[in-house]
Amino acid sequence: MLPASLRDDFPILQQSVHGDRPLVFLDNAASTQRSRQVMDAVRRLEEHDYANVHRGIHTLSERSTDAYEAAREKVRAFINAESADEIVFTQGTTASINLVARSWGEANLKPGDEILLTLMEHHSNLVPWFQAAERTGAVVRQIPITDDGLLDLSGLDSLLTRRTKLVAVASVSNTLGTINPVAEIIRRAHAVGALVLVDAAQSVPHMATDVRALDVDFLAFSGHKMTGPSGIGVLYGKRSLLEAMPAFLGGGSMIDRVYADRFTPAPIPTRFEAGTPPISGAIGLGAAIDYLQAIGMDAIQQHEHRLVEHAWRRLGEVEGLTRLGPPPEQRAGLVGFTLDRPHAHDIAQLLDEQGVAVRAGHHCTQPLHDRLGISASTRASFYLYNTLEEVDVLVDALAAIRERFRPRGRKRAARVAEK
Ligand code: PMP
Repeated sequence: MLPASLRDDFPILQQSVHGDRPLVFLDNAASTQRSRQVMDAVRRLEEHDYANVHRGIHTLSERSTDAYEAAREKVRAFINAESADEIVFTQGTTASINLVARSWGEANLKPGDEILLTLMEHHSNLVPWFQAAERTGAVVRQIPITDDGLLDLSGLDSLLTRRTKLVAVASVSNTLGTINPVAEIIRRAHAVGALVLVDAAQSVPHMATDVRALDVDFLAFSGHKMTGPSGIGVLYGKRSLLEAMPAFLGGGSMIDRVYADRFTPAPIPTRFEAGTPPISGAIGLGAAIDYLQAIGMDAIQQHEHRLVEHAWRRLGEVEGLTRLGPPPEQRAGLVGFTLDRPHAHDIAQLLDEQGVAVRAGHHCTQPLHDRLGISASTRASFYLYNTLEEVDVLVDALAAIRERFRPRGRKRAARVAEK
């Protein structure tokens, strides 16, 4: 386990809610908390060096530009990209996927082409492709899932054909926690000439990522899920692909030259960074990467694995509770579940009264919830600062909630049986 002293780096965790309930923050798959180190880096920039980047020839602009480009280099090294030119700063995973769906999609998709998604994708990795299909006449197909919450690759050979132009898949499901076999999918997609976009929003923060070892074509993730600021994200794209893609948003910075009636685009990556970028966000993301690397991605993954093992086992002891997705060996550090009663939203509210922050709802995976035959679920998601004791607080609170909502007759019967 990682030392609990890491919690001292996260001032927001040192508080109680609803009076005297120590905060147990288990909503990290939505957004993680920021470390002092990240906040200090942003404050340092904003107190000493802040100005717009890439523009003015003055000291502060040069300092800001250097810091912004240094952050790009940190991202490159973190995911082992070949060149910092392959790192595009965006607003987040959603913006990164939309960029590819619009720019690459419109330039490359034609009627009858196929885009292959999976049934466990976040809406951010579905809707942009539905929109691209509408605009281009391409067809969306989906890899189904098994009852255990794994991708069902048994029919992949018939889904993945010469018509498939792109496969878009999450490396880790934000609802089931499933770690998907993206390396295999990439290999098989490349064999039929398809490109692969990996939605890595739930994996880059939690495990080591090597885009070159994966041979992935596009990879998207968000700063706010890895102790960085919100409003900053990354699109990684192979140089040859990005270079061939038309600009998406038009405006300042993304141009080489503008004439009265036309423009020529800037080289990558600035071609895709129109307007003033999230400067403080990029510096904060760079500091978050420094922070995570100092701890070590493997150590973070092991820590979360211990937490999820413990949570999986203890949740299994709660009456009426169904755990969603595969066992700990095949999952990352989050657990989704349903309770026969009460409803997921009530569970989240009752847990909040005990100081426990979780998420309830469809987690932007409605097709997956439809497949599971449920309308909502509750999700506890862990990060490097969570402890085994916090998992126990969650499970004990859930058991108490279930007890409170037990049907009257059965409550009495249970009491009798205990005697
Ligand atoms: N994909 C996955 C798997 C996610 O978990 C999320 C965030 N819940 C997103 C995409 C969207 O990320 P963002 O809101 O940062 O754009």
